[in-house]
Amino acid sequence: MAVSTENRPALSPTTDTQNNAQAAAQTIDGFQLVIEALKLNGLDTIYGLPGIPITDLTRRAQGDGLRVLSFRHEQSAGYAASIAGFLTGKPGICLTVSAPGFLNGLNALAHATVNCFPMILISGSSEREIVDLQQGDYEEMDQLAIAKPVAKAAFRVLHAEDIGIGIARAIRAALSGRPGGVYLDLPAKLFAQCIDAAAGRASLIKVVDPAPRQIPAPEAVQRALELLKGAKKPLIILGKGAAYAQADADIQALVEKTGIPYLPMSMAKGLLPDTHELCASAARSFVLPGADVVVLIGARLNWLLSHGKGKTWGGKASKDWGGQKFIQIDISPQEADSNVRIDAPLVGDIGSCVSALLQGIGSGWAKPPADWLNAVHEKKTTNVAKMAETLVKNPSPMNFHSALNVVRDIVKANPEAMLVNEGANALDFTRSIVDMYRPRKRIDVGTWGIMGVGMGYCVAAAVTTRQQVIAVEGDSAFGFSGMEVETICRYDLPVCIVVMNNNGVYKGTDKDPTGRDPAPTVFVKGARYDKIIEAFGGVGVNATTPAELRKAMEDAIRSRKPTLINAVIDETAGTESGRITSLNPSAAKKK
Ligand code: ADP
Ligand code: MG
Repeated sequence: MAVSTENRPALSPTTDTQNNAQAAAQTIDGFQLVIEALKLNGLDTIYGLPGIPITDLTRRAQGDGLRVLSFRHEQSAGYAASIAGFLTGKPGICLTVSAPGFLNGLNALAHATVNCFPMILISGSSEREIVDLQQGDYEEMDQLAIAKPVAKAAFRVLHAEDIGIGIARAIRAALSGRPGGVYLDLPAKLFAQCIDAAAGRASLIKVVDPAPRQIPAPEAVQRALELLKGAKKPLIILGKGAAYAQADADIQALVEKTGIPYLPMSMAKGLLPDTHELCASAARSFVLPGADVVVLIGARLNWLLSHGKGKTWGGKASKDWGGQKFIQIDISPQEADSNVRIDAPLVGDIGSCVSALLQGIGSGWAKPPADWLNAVHEKKTTNVAKMAETLVKNPSPMNFHSALNVVRDIVKANPEAMLVNEGANALDFTRSIVDMYRPRKRIDVGTWGIMGVGMGYCVAAAVTTRQQVIAVEGDSAFGFSGMEVETICRYDLPVCIVVMNNNGVYKGTDKDPTGRDPAPTVFVKGARYDKIIEAFGGVGVNATTPAELRKAMEDAIRSRKPTLINAVIDETAGTESGRITSLNPSAAKKK
């Protein structure tokens, strides 16, 4: 342990070693304070990548009993931390080196903020004096300034005695109110600073009630209930905020007591089983425009819900929107009216808001009119039957449907398994085909619809839940974090990756009109992704039929061995951009 000269007593040469040890015992350095502050707050897992100046922090944290998971790229470590935050309700910790490592982690920090996941990115940084004078230090960068615009909050700690405060502030910022990504800048010099051990330990803070309940105002609850009472065609939309809030039983009770059909957003699938009689997923394009009062629970009216406007919703011919009324439950008081008028905003934490609604509803609540419920049910039955027909087809080569029919069965048989999902077609089809049965089991591309979260999510999901993880990956999506299969093998995690290999982005059929190069959207034809995991001792399987895929997935789940299945999919099977074709500028121009 390094001891700073200021704290060091005058020593005679003969007793130097002895006194040094004594001095060290009475002092504590920055490394140790960071570790103890994290432990004090129950933050027992670090997702990161060692290097200057945080290598010793990773070593000593591991020595002190923290779980330190080392990745091959900071972006994956960051995504792992972000989803650990979503799954556990504690901020996920990502630890990186300075400038380039920090920048690699920044993507995940922004992702956490955008998705409302609590996460703390801790990065080592270079000497402040040199950075601020731009004198060209090793990995010189003003990291704090760069992190600020994409973080919910950003802090820098310069003195060892402030480490406790710095970490407490980061935890509070990440967890309280609308959760988000927080940046904590720890300059290299800080780690070696030594202070008196007792004073240092006394300076650490165990954060009390970091995510305080926020009780909704009684009049806001009343307003919402009045609106809901008058509804003829009510609909509940559950977002990932509802999944994060861990108010599962009350949310289920609200749906069932009111008898209102509900739509789960992607990561809210399984909050109630997708097979629930009130689940309206299979009638989505009917209920969105059809509903007269919509209750949003932890879901924003962003692009994923067509901003609550237009043809998707109950717009009138004269006015493109405004035909529906909204109740919005959200912890952020600024969320209401962001896209359309919210008639009854209910500001508070979802647990408190839902329980207040439940109390207000009491026992005499009338179920929605039968014609609405019947219409939803009918639409749903027709669509489910149509989908069932498609799913039983067994074309050769496999397409997304026949492959996902297998995944659907496997998830049904293993409802506790975590499902990681990213891609374009691989994402859209999985979301609609694979039913989820338990809360917080489906984790995916989130608010931005990004690629690259896959393997980082797999690691965090396996580590935080200890459940089997199944990852359904587009071949393009997998490429962003594919090297992390080494991480998965190294920690021997029960992860079964299914790469939906259709030879390219969207499809594998594009051609370079000049005939010179492969088209920008295509990859090596017939690539064998399964060989990648074999390099690290995992199990690789090439599956060309649903039967082969089924057997490989069953084997993986039985053995809990890291497995990568190369599912060979018809290269003509995908569509451009999956379900968001309309967002391509050329498609928009044609409209
Ligand atoms: P989805 O994409 O699934 O629709 P969003 O990410 O758009 O979900 O919305 C999540 C919303 O949930 C955010 O507006 C966020 O403020 C809110 N939220 C997150 N946690 C809580 C909570 N504990 N209580 C209330 N609202 C929450
Ligand atoms: Mg593809």
